[in-house]
Amino acid sequence: MTIRFTQSCPTCGRRVQIRASLIGYNVACQHCNAEFVAEADADDHSSMNESNVPRAIVPDPLMARVEEALQRAAENRAISS
Ligand SMILES: [Zn+2]
Repeated sequence: MTIRFTQSCPTCGRRVQIRASLIGYNVACQHCNAEFVAEADADDHSSMNESNVPRAIVPDPLMARVEEALQRAAENRAISS
């Protein structure tokens, strides 16, 4: 199954269906043919439920670092005790 989301075209303002695999790439508007960069955090999520939000495709580097720091802190505590 192909995951799609909708984003408003910055040129004509109409909704454009974009494949989730195209996030971060230039896509062409299906209505006015204008090119713009597909973004995961589109303002319109009405046509999809939470599980379809393509956020997982691009891991959050900040959260990954926080998790890593927490893990390291836990390990240090285990060593010193
Ligand atoms: Zn357009």
